[in-house]
Amino acid sequence: MPNIENNITAVQRRLQQAARDAGRNPEDILLLAVSKTRSSAQVSLAQSAGIQSFGENYLQEASDKITQLGGQGLDWHFIGPLQSNKTRQVAEQFAWVHTVDRLKIAQRLSAQRPVTMPALNICLQINIDNEESKSGFSPEQALSMAATIAQLPNLRLRGLMAIPRPRANIVEQQQPFAQLAALQKEINSTLDNCEKLDTLSMGMSADLEAAIAEGATIIRVGTDIFGPRS
Ligand SMILES: *Cc1c(COP(=O)(O)O)cnc(C)c1O
Repeated sequence: MPNIENNITAVQRRLQQAARDAGRNPEDILLLAVSKTRSSAQVSLAQSAGIQSFGENYLQEASDKITQLGGQGLDWHFIGPLQSNKTRQVAEQFAWVHTVDRLKIAQRLSAQRPVTMPALNICLQINIDNEESKSGFSPEQALSMAATIAQLPNLRLRGLMAIPRPRANIVEQQQPFAQLAALQKEINSTLDNCEKLDTLSMGMSADLEAAIAEGATIIRVGTDIFGPRS
């Protein structure tokens, strides 16, 4: 059984060190614990160790956990592939969606977000390495889409998210993260009359240092908190 509390301490130290190395304030970086495939009991352990935000990929599994734990001040982030027939439940149950990859998904989330809830925070997923196997907007599409999506009611377009292909070392890992940060800057320079993007969701267990060096504001960490997934 991995020791979740020790693991969280170790990841927080890595976050802080990487922030210091980059001349950044560690408090500007959210550690999102990716709890897909983990039990409610494991989520509770992570919460006891100071984690408030959890990332989930599979809606049914997530809904069960949210029902069990939701009333305890946790923030739930949807970070999995999102089909249009699942948007309603996501709009009703989550604080964030990191994986908006089509205009239609954004429109549905906007229409289905209960007006009694705060705006749903969203990130556009960018297929930064142009991989066949990954979803996401191309950087060119994102530039033209952002202005449209930023106008949708009940949503707040917060930033960009990417899952780059694995690379061998930190120098190579930094490259796609730098591209994502540059794209965000470019989008911000084109956005008038709406709030600028302030979120870069990038970096996982294996590349969080590289992501923080390039400006990540949310790192998504599963394995290094909860242990290997079976
Ligand atoms: C599973 C997952 C993670 C966590 O990956 P680890 O390598 O276990 O840290 C992060 N982001 C997304 C989108 C994921 O699906």
